Amino acid sequence: MAKPVMERKTFREELRNMVSGRVLFDEPMNRHTSMGVGGKADALVFPESSEELAKLISFLRSAGVPFLPVGNCTNLIVRDGGFRGVLVSLRNLRGKALRWGGDEAVLKVGAGIPLSEVVGLAVDEALTGMEFCAGIPGSVGGGLKMNAGAFGREMKDVVVAIALVNGSGIKSIAREELTFTYRNLDLPRDAVVTGAEFSLHRASRELVRARVAEILAIRKSRHPLQYRSAGSVFKNPASAPAGKLIDEAGLKGTRIGGAMVSDEHGNFIVNTGAATAEDVVALVELIESRVFEKTGVRLEREVKIIGEEEGRS
Ligand SMILES: Cc1cc2nc3c(=O)[nH]c(=O)nc-3n(C[C@H](O)[C@H](O)[C@H](O)COP(=O)(O)OP(=O)(O)OC[C@H]3O[C@@H](n4cnc5c(N)ncnc54)[C@H](O)[C@@H]3O)c2cc1C
Repeated sequence: MAKPVMERKTFREELRNMVSGRVLFDEPMNRHTSMGVGGKADALVFPESSEELAKLISFLRSAGVPFLPVGNCTNLIVRDGGFRGVLVSLRNLRGKALRWGGDEAVLKVGAGIPLSEVVGLAVDEALTGMEFCAGIPGSVGGGLKMNAGAFGREMKDVVVAIALVNGSGIKSIAREELTFTYRNLDLPRDAVVTGAEFSLHRASRELVRARVAEILAIRKSRHPLQYRSAGSVFKNPASAPAGKLIDEAGLKGTRIGGAMVSDEHGNFIVNTGAATAEDVVALVELIESRVFEKTGVRLEREVKIIGEEEGRS
């Protein structure tokens, strides 16, 4: 039987030549996910520009190799059997530009910039609008795809346009044409966000800084930040916060292997040290069934679980 494309030496060489940033083969994803779990990706690659990314996507599409964009991997669980295909990290797309118009400014950033850096930039420039992102550990690209939010605001409230790359090249899409919902942005098939423009407003630097500090303090008091996690595991249903339902189902502190439902916040699963992805996934499934039994509510996952179960790859 012919070898799978990803295992062919010639394919791996072509892939390496196509990307000027790092190309890591058989890369353990527990080194990259905030949860610290995950098997090997066939390849994890770091393109350096949108143009390179566009060529890479059409190459992978024509070779029939599955791929998935990743940012900071803070909302991602890769199963222990790993990911068959190419994980495309946007980390090296790091452009930044600020355009003032009166008391408004448009901040244009690459998808690989961490949201924390955007918040820091907004503070330095005395701009309000991004404070809600303080403490969200994702990147601009992942933040947009997830429509990340906190404290009553979401990415959709600040974005004016995004840049993306898909099989047919690079394009810019205005806010009006984008469909954001709770923790999701609809994207065309195989589209990868390469950057965004945010609309921000002039404000007192001290006030913006104080709000950021306040948000970070609130998060520290509510979230189990001493452990590795992927943030909230489930979306909040309309009826009640997911954490409350999980608490009421008596699940706080429940452990499977090294994974534990945080006793501080029911919607966080934490890695107590040596969790595997399957421990985490088993705990996710246990929470889903227990909460349904107790409350009749079907929780919807916010974290993305990708890859293969061990032994099935
Ligand atoms: C301690 C902690 C606290 C958190 N708090 C919050 C919070 O308050 N609010 C909140 O919303 N989230 C929160 N999160 C979750 C997470 O940080 C966000 O979902 C974040 O937006 C994910 O960004 P990322 O770059 O890590 O994306 P990843 O985890 O790398 O990817 C997430 C998803 O986005 C897709 N994706 C990534 N980059 C791109 C791209 N460039 N183009 C297209 N698709 C892409 C991936 O394929 C995947 O489906 C928290 C996580 C942790 C660990």
